[in-house]
Amino acid sequence: MPRDPYEVLGVGRDASAQDVKKAFRQLAMELHPDVNAHDPDAEEKFKEAAEANEILSDPERRATYDRYGHDGLRSGGYAPNFDSFGSISDLFNAFFGGAPSGRGGPAQGGDIAVAIEIDLLEAANGATVEVSYEAVERCEHCHGNGAEPGTPIETCERCAGHGQLQAVTRTPFGQMARTVLCDVCHGDGRVPKQPCRECRGRGRKTARRELEVDVPAGIADSQRIRLSERGHAGEAGAPAGDLYVLVRVREDERFVREGDDLIAALDVAAPLAALGATLQTPTLEGMASVEVPPGTQPGEVLTLRGEGMPGLRRGRRGDLRMVVNVMIPRRLSEEQRELLERLNGTLTAENLRSDESMFAKLRRTLRGDGA
Ligand SMILES: [Zn+2]
Ligand SMILES: [Zn+2]
Repeated sequence: MPRDPYEVLGVGRDASAQDVKKAFRQLAMELHPDVNAHDPDAEEKFKEAAEANEILSDPERRATYDRYGHDGLRSGGYAPNFDSFGSISDLFNAFFGGAPSGRGGPAQGGDIAVAIEIDLLEAANGATVEVSYEAVERCEHCHGNGAEPGTPIETCERCAGHGQLQAVTRTPFGQMARTVLCDVCHGDGRVPKQPCRECRGRGRKTARRELEVDVPAGIADSQRIRLSERGHAGEAGAPAGDLYVLVRVREDERFVREGDDLIAALDVAAPLAALGATLQTPTLEGMASVEVPPGTQPGEVLTLRGEGMPGLRRGRRGDLRMVVNVMIPRRLSEEQRELLERLNGTLTAENLRSDESMFAKLRRTLRGDGA
Protein backbone atom coordinates (compact mmCIF):
# COMPACT_ATOMS: atom_id res chain seq x y z
CA MET A 1 0.00 0.00 0.00
CA PRO A 2 1.51 3.37 -0.96
CA ARG A 3 1.96 5.96 1.76
CA ASP A 4 -0.32 8.89 2.34
CA PRO A 5 0.82 11.58 -0.14
CA TYR A 6 0.28 14.35 2.42
CA GLU A 7 2.58 12.52 4.79
CA VAL A 8 5.15 11.94 2.03
CA LEU A 9 5.34 15.64 1.20
CA GLY A 10 4.96 16.70 4.82
CA VAL A 11 2.04 19.03 4.18
CA GLY A 12 -1.32 19.36 5.88
CA ARG A 13 -4.68 18.33 4.40
CA ASP A 14 -5.47 21.99 3.84
CA ALA A 15 -2.19 22.74 2.01
CA SER A 16 -2.58 25.08 -0.95
CA ALA A 17 -1.38 24.18 -4.44
CA GLN A 18 1.54 26.50 -3.77
CA ASP A 19 2.41 24.67 -0.53
CA VAL A 20 2.36 21.32 -2.33
CA LYS A 21 4.60 22.63 -5.08
CA LYS A 22 7.02 24.11 -2.59
CA ALA A 23 7.18 20.96 -0.48
CA PHE A 24 7.79 18.76 -3.51
CA ARG A 25 10.43 21.11 -4.85
CA GLN A 26 12.23 21.02 -1.53
CA LEU A 27 12.11 17.23 -1.35
CA ALA A 28 13.09 16.79 -4.97
CA MET A 29 16.15 18.96 -4.37
CA GLU A 30 17.25 16.69 -1.56
CA LEU A 31 16.33 13.37 -3.09
CA HIS A 32 17.03 13.47 -6.78
CA PRO A 33 19.27 10.45 -7.52
CA ASP A 34 21.70 12.56 -9.52
CA VAL A 35 22.06 14.77 -6.51
CA ASN A 36 21.93 12.51 -3.53
CA ALA A 37 24.47 9.79 -4.13
CA HIS A 38 24.89 9.15 -0.40
CA ASP A 39 21.46 7.79 0.36
CA PRO A 40 20.82 4.42 -1.31
CA ASP A 41 17.09 4.90 -0.82
CA ALA A 42 17.07 8.34 -2.45
CA GLU A 43 15.76 7.09 -5.76
CA GLU A 44 12.87 5.22 -4.14
CA LYS A 45 12.05 8.19 -1.97
CA PHE A 46 12.17 10.53 -4.94
CA LYS A 47 9.72 8.31 -6.80
CA GLU A 48 7.43 8.33 -3.82
CA ALA A 49 7.59 12.13 -3.59
CA ALA A 50 6.97 12.49 -7.32
CA GLU A 51 3.93 10.23 -7.06
CA ALA A 52 2.60 12.15 -4.09
CA ASN A 53 3.06 15.35 -6.05
CA GLU A 54 1.23 13.90 -9.03
CA ILE A 55 -1.76 13.18 -6.87
CA LEU A 56 -1.83 16.38 -4.83
CA SER A 57 -1.02 18.81 -7.64
CA ASP A 58 -4.02 17.69 -9.67
CA PRO A 59 -7.23 19.04 -8.07
CA GLU A 60 -9.40 16.24 -9.43
CA ARG A 61 -7.02 13.48 -8.35
CA ARG A 62 -6.57 15.12 -4.99
CA ALA A 63 -10.32 15.27 -4.43
CA THR A 64 -10.64 11.60 -5.38
CA TYR A 65 -7.86 10.68 -2.99
CA ASP A 66 -9.37 12.77 -0.20
CA ARG A 67 -12.67 10.92 -0.51
CA TYR A 68 -11.68 7.39 -1.48
CA GLY A 69 -7.94 7.06 -0.84
CA HIS A 70 -5.51 5.14 -3.01
CA ASP A 71 -8.17 2.54 -3.85
CA GLY A 72 -10.35 5.25 -5.31
CA LEU A 73 -7.55 6.49 -7.52
CA ARG A 74 -6.75 3.04 -8.75
CA SER A 75 -10.33 2.11 -9.54
CA GLY A 76 -10.59 5.40 -11.41
CA GLY A 77 -7.82 4.16 -13.68
CA TYR A 78 -5.01 6.26 -12.28
CA ALA A 79 -1.64 4.57 -11.92
CA PRO A 80 1.50 6.48 -11.07
CA ASN A 81 4.19 5.92 -13.62
CA PHE A 82 7.73 6.62 -12.57
CA ASP A 83 9.20 3.24 -13.24
CA SER A 84 12.02 4.34 -15.45
CA PHE A 85 14.84 6.50 -14.31
CA GLY A 86 14.37 8.55 -17.48
CA SER A 87 10.97 9.77 -16.49
CA ILE A 88 12.33 10.88 -13.12
CA SER A 89 15.00 12.89 -14.87
CA ASP A 90 12.42 14.43 -17.16
CA LEU A 91 10.25 15.34 -14.25
CA PHE A 92 13.16 16.87 -12.44
CA ASN A 93 14.13 18.83 -15.52
CA ALA A 94 10.60 20.09 -15.88
CA PHE A 95 10.89 21.44 -12.37
CA PHE A 96 14.36 22.84 -12.42
CA GLY A 97 14.83 23.86 -16.00
CA GLY A 98 16.01 22.30 -19.18
CA ALA A 99 12.42 22.26 -20.34
CA PRO A 100 11.62 23.51 -23.83
CA SER A 101 11.35 27.24 -24.07
CA GLY A 102 8.38 29.36 -25.02
CA ARG A 103 8.36 31.87 -27.81
CA GLY A 104 10.25 35.12 -28.10
CA GLY A 105 14.00 35.09 -28.50
CA PRO A 106 16.45 32.37 -27.62
CA ALA A 107 15.81 31.11 -24.13
CA GLN A 108 18.36 30.93 -21.36
CA GLY A 109 19.29 27.44 -20.24
CA GLY A 110 17.63 25.96 -17.16
CA ASP A 111 19.19 25.98 -13.72
CA ILE A 112 20.50 22.79 -12.14
CA ALA A 113 20.58 21.91 -8.47
CA VAL A 114 23.05 19.51 -6.91
CA ALA A 115 23.77 18.74 -3.26
CA ILE A 116 27.05 18.01 -1.56
CA GLU A 117 27.86 16.87 1.94
CA ILE A 118 30.91 17.97 3.92
CA ASP A 119 31.96 17.52 7.53
CA LEU A 120 32.37 20.25 10.12
CA LEU A 121 36.14 20.50 9.72
CA GLU A 122 35.74 21.03 5.98
CA ALA A 123 33.11 23.65 6.69
CA ALA A 124 35.61 25.38 9.00
CA ASN A 125 38.57 25.25 6.65
CA GLY A 126 36.82 25.49 3.32
CA ALA A 127 37.02 22.63 0.85
CA THR A 128 37.13 21.78 -2.80
CA VAL A 129 34.44 19.26 -3.64
CA GLU A 130 33.92 17.53 -6.94
CA VAL A 131 30.37 17.44 -8.21
CA SER A 132 29.11 15.36 -11.10
CA TYR A 133 25.86 16.14 -12.86
CA GLU A 134 24.06 15.83 -16.15
CA ALA A 135 23.57 18.97 -18.17
CA VAL A 136 22.16 19.82 -21.54
CA GLU A 137 24.99 21.01 -23.77
CA ARG A 138 25.13 22.49 -27.21
CA CYS A 139 25.79 19.82 -29.80
CA GLU A 140 29.27 20.46 -31.17
CA HIS A 141 28.67 18.40 -34.32
CA CYS A 142 26.01 20.78 -35.69
CA HIS A 143 26.98 23.82 -33.58
CA GLY A 144 23.51 23.78 -32.11
CA ASN A 145 21.49 24.34 -35.28
CA GLY A 146 20.32 20.74 -35.52
CA ALA A 147 21.35 20.22 -39.14
CA GLU A 148 23.91 17.70 -40.33
CA PRO A 149 26.91 19.87 -41.35
CA GLY A 150 26.77 20.86 -45.03
CA THR A 151 23.02 20.34 -45.30
CA PRO A 152 20.52 23.20 -45.62
CA ILE A 153 18.00 24.41 -43.07
CA GLU A 154 14.67 25.06 -44.70
CA THR A 155 11.52 26.96 -43.89
CA CYS A 156 9.07 24.69 -42.08
CA GLU A 157 6.37 23.61 -44.51
CA ARG A 158 3.78 22.82 -41.89
CA CYS A 159 3.64 26.33 -40.42
CA ALA A 160 5.15 28.23 -43.34
CA GLY A 161 7.86 29.49 -41.04
CA HIS A 162 5.55 31.07 -38.44
CA GLY A 163 6.37 28.53 -35.77
CA GLN A 164 2.71 28.50 -34.76
CA LEU A 165 -0.46 26.84 -35.97
CA GLN A 166 -4.12 27.69 -35.59
CA ALA A 167 -5.92 24.76 -34.06
CA VAL A 168 -9.68 24.74 -34.41
CA THR A 169 -11.75 22.69 -31.99
CA ARG A 170 -15.50 22.14 -32.00
CA THR A 171 -17.25 22.85 -28.73
CA PRO A 172 -20.94 23.06 -27.79
CA PHE A 173 -20.57 26.82 -28.17
CA GLY A 174 -19.19 26.70 -31.67
CA GLN A 175 -15.72 26.58 -33.09
CA MET A 176 -12.85 27.80 -30.99
CA ALA A 177 -9.51 28.73 -32.51
CA ARG A 178 -6.34 28.79 -30.52
CA THR A 179 -2.70 29.18 -31.36
CA VAL A 180 -0.41 26.25 -30.66
CA LEU A 181 3.28 25.64 -31.19
CA CYS A 182 4.10 23.98 -34.50
CA ASP A 183 4.64 20.28 -33.87
CA VAL A 184 7.19 19.92 -36.66
CA CYS A 185 9.64 22.78 -35.99
CA HIS A 186 8.67 23.32 -32.33
CA GLY A 187 8.34 27.03 -32.91
CA ASP A 188 11.58 27.67 -34.75
CA GLY A 189 9.92 28.09 -38.13
CA ARG A 190 12.88 26.34 -39.71
CA VAL A 191 13.76 22.69 -39.94
CA PRO A 192 16.99 21.01 -40.99
CA LYS A 193 16.63 19.06 -44.23
CA GLN A 194 18.81 16.38 -42.74
CA PRO A 195 18.82 16.28 -38.94
CA CYS A 196 22.20 16.13 -37.20
CA ARG A 197 23.05 12.51 -36.51
CA GLU A 198 24.66 13.29 -33.17
CA CYS A 199 21.71 15.04 -31.57
CA ARG A 200 18.94 13.89 -33.90
CA GLY A 201 18.20 17.48 -34.88
CA ARG A 202 17.70 18.84 -31.40
CA GLY A 203 20.86 20.93 -31.42
CA ARG A 204 21.51 19.97 -27.82
CA LYS A 205 22.37 16.82 -25.97
CA THR A 206 22.86 15.67 -22.42
CA ALA A 207 26.34 15.14 -21.08
CA ARG A 208 27.78 14.30 -17.69
CA ARG A 209 29.90 17.06 -16.32
CA GLU A 210 32.43 17.10 -13.51
CA LEU A 211 33.22 20.30 -11.73
CA GLU A 212 35.27 21.32 -8.73
CA VAL A 213 33.35 23.54 -6.37
CA ASP A 214 35.13 25.77 -3.88
CA VAL A 215 33.27 25.76 -0.61
CA PRO A 216 34.21 28.86 1.41
CA ALA A 217 35.40 28.48 5.01
CA GLY A 218 32.64 29.15 7.51
CA ILE A 219 29.74 27.90 5.37
CA ALA A 220 26.70 26.74 7.31
CA ASP A 221 24.41 23.79 6.71
CA SER A 222 21.83 24.30 3.93
CA GLN A 223 23.54 27.29 2.37
CA ARG A 224 23.66 27.40 -1.40
CA ILE A 225 26.52 28.28 -3.70
CA ARG A 226 25.58 29.66 -7.11
CA LEU A 227 27.86 29.07 -10.07
CA SER A 228 26.61 31.20 -12.90
CA GLU A 229 26.21 29.68 -16.35
CA ARG A 230 27.19 26.19 -15.22
CA GLY A 231 23.65 24.90 -15.73
CA HIS A 232 21.93 23.68 -18.87
CA ALA A 233 23.02 25.25 -22.16
CA GLY A 234 20.63 27.82 -23.54
CA GLU A 235 19.39 28.08 -27.08
CA ALA A 236 21.87 29.42 -29.60
CA GLY A 237 22.76 32.97 -28.58
CA ALA A 238 21.40 32.69 -25.04
CA PRO A 239 23.41 32.13 -21.86
CA ALA A 240 23.43 28.86 -19.95
CA GLY A 241 21.49 28.47 -16.74
CA ASP A 242 23.09 28.48 -13.31
CA LEU A 243 24.26 25.65 -11.10
CA TYR A 244 23.11 25.74 -7.49
CA VAL A 245 25.12 23.68 -5.04
CA LEU A 246 23.30 22.93 -1.82
CA VAL A 247 25.82 22.36 0.97
CA ARG A 248 24.91 19.97 3.75
CA VAL A 249 27.22 19.94 6.76
CA ARG A 250 27.25 16.57 8.51
CA GLU A 251 26.56 16.59 12.21
CA ASP A 252 29.66 16.27 14.35
CA GLU A 253 29.83 13.94 17.34
CA ARG A 254 31.83 16.35 19.46
CA PHE A 255 30.60 19.81 18.58
CA VAL A 256 27.28 21.50 18.17
CA ARG A 257 27.41 24.61 16.06
CA GLU A 258 25.69 27.79 17.12
CA GLY A 259 26.35 30.54 14.62
CA ASP A 260 30.12 30.88 14.52
CA ASP A 261 30.53 29.33 17.97
CA LEU A 262 31.00 25.66 18.78
CA ILE A 263 29.64 24.08 21.93
CA ALA A 264 31.12 20.96 23.50
CA ALA A 265 30.95 19.11 26.81
CA LEU A 266 34.04 19.11 29.05
CA ASP A 267 34.26 16.20 31.49
CA VAL A 268 36.00 17.19 34.74
CA ALA A 269 36.54 14.75 37.62
CA ALA A 270 34.90 16.08 40.79
CA PRO A 271 38.17 16.49 42.78
CA LEU A 272 39.74 18.44 39.88
CA ALA A 273 36.66 20.66 39.62
CA ALA A 274 37.25 21.52 43.29
CA LEU A 275 41.04 21.81 43.08
CA GLY A 276 41.37 23.42 39.66
CA ALA A 277 43.37 21.87 36.82
CA THR A 278 44.76 22.32 33.34
CA LEU A 279 43.06 19.84 31.00
CA GLN A 280 43.55 18.89 27.37
CA THR A 281 40.43 19.16 25.27
CA PRO A 282 39.74 18.43 21.62
CA THR A 283 39.18 21.40 19.32
CA LEU A 284 38.25 21.34 15.65
CA GLU A 285 41.90 21.40 14.66
CA GLY A 286 43.47 19.24 17.35
CA MET A 287 43.94 19.61 21.09
CA ALA A 288 44.14 22.67 23.30
CA SER A 289 44.74 23.37 26.99
CA VAL A 290 41.88 24.66 29.04
CA GLU A 291 42.21 26.12 32.54
CA VAL A 292 39.61 24.78 34.94
CA PRO A 293 39.60 27.23 37.87
CA PRO A 294 39.34 25.87 41.46
CA GLY A 295 35.72 25.52 42.52
CA THR A 296 34.33 25.06 39.01
CA GLN A 297 30.67 24.04 39.19
CA PRO A 298 28.63 21.67 36.96
CA GLY A 299 27.14 23.49 33.98
CA GLU A 300 29.68 26.29 34.15
CA VAL A 301 30.90 27.40 30.73
CA LEU A 302 34.59 27.73 29.89
CA THR A 303 35.42 29.54 26.70
CA LEU A 304 38.35 29.13 24.34
CA ARG A 305 38.40 32.30 22.27
CA GLY A 306 38.84 31.92 18.53
CA GLU A 307 38.49 28.11 18.50
CA GLY A 308 35.07 28.19 16.86
CA MET A 309 34.12 28.48 13.19
CA PRO A 310 35.49 31.22 10.96
CA GLY A 311 32.96 33.92 10.13
CA LEU A 312 31.82 33.65 6.53
CA ARG A 313 31.92 37.44 6.13
CA ARG A 314 33.62 38.87 9.18
CA GLY A 315 37.23 37.87 9.66
CA ARG A 316 36.90 36.93 13.35
CA ARG A 317 36.58 33.31 14.34
CA GLY A 318 33.90 32.22 16.78
CA ASP A 319 34.63 30.67 20.18
CA LEU A 320 34.60 27.16 21.57
CA ARG A 321 32.29 27.12 24.59
CA MET A 322 32.63 24.12 26.86
CA VAL A 323 29.91 23.19 29.29
CA VAL A 324 31.50 21.59 32.35
CA ASN A 325 30.24 18.13 33.17
CA VAL A 326 31.47 17.27 36.67
CA MET A 327 32.09 13.54 36.93
CA ILE A 328 31.07 12.21 40.32
CA PRO A 329 33.12 9.10 41.20
CA ARG A 330 31.19 5.82 41.37
CA ARG A 331 31.96 2.29 42.62
CA LEU A 332 34.23 3.59 45.36
CA SER A 333 36.89 1.45 47.02
CA GLU A 334 37.00 1.25 50.80
CA GLU A 335 39.90 3.68 50.90
CA GLN A 336 38.18 6.19 48.62
CA ARG A 337 35.04 6.01 50.67
CA GLU A 338 37.00 6.79 53.83
CA LEU A 339 38.77 9.74 52.16
CA LEU A 340 35.48 11.21 50.97
CA GLU A 341 33.86 10.71 54.35
CA ARG A 342 36.77 12.46 56.02
CA LEU A 343 36.55 15.29 53.48
CA ASN A 344 32.81 15.58 53.99
CA GLY A 345 33.32 15.84 57.74
CA THR A 346 35.49 18.93 57.25
CA LEU A 347 33.22 20.81 54.83
CA THR A 348 31.80 24.09 56.09
CA ALA A 349 28.92 26.23 54.87
CA GLU A 350 31.55 28.52 53.31
CA ASN A 351 32.89 25.61 51.20
CA LEU A 352 29.43 24.84 49.82
CA ARG A 353 28.01 28.31 49.29
CA SER A 354 27.34 28.87 45.60
CA ASP A 355 28.13 32.21 44.02
CA GLU A 356 25.29 31.96 41.63
CA SER A 357 22.07 30.04 41.53
CA MET A 358 21.92 26.98 39.30
CA PHE A 359 19.14 28.62 37.35
CA ALA A 360 21.12 31.78 36.64
CA LYS A 361 23.97 29.62 35.39
CA LEU A 362 21.71 27.66 33.09
CA ARG A 363 20.31 30.87 31.68
CA ARG A 364 23.81 32.14 31.02
CA THR A 365 24.72 28.94 29.18
CA LEU A 366 21.67 29.08 26.99
CA ARG A 367 22.18 32.73 26.16
CA GLY A 368 25.75 31.95 25.31
CA ASP A 369 27.49 34.86 27.00
CA GLY A 370 30.27 32.63 28.19
CA ALA A 371 32.32 32.68 31.35
ZN1 LIG B 1 23.81 18.13 -33.48
ZN1 LIG C 1 6.83 24.64 -38.17
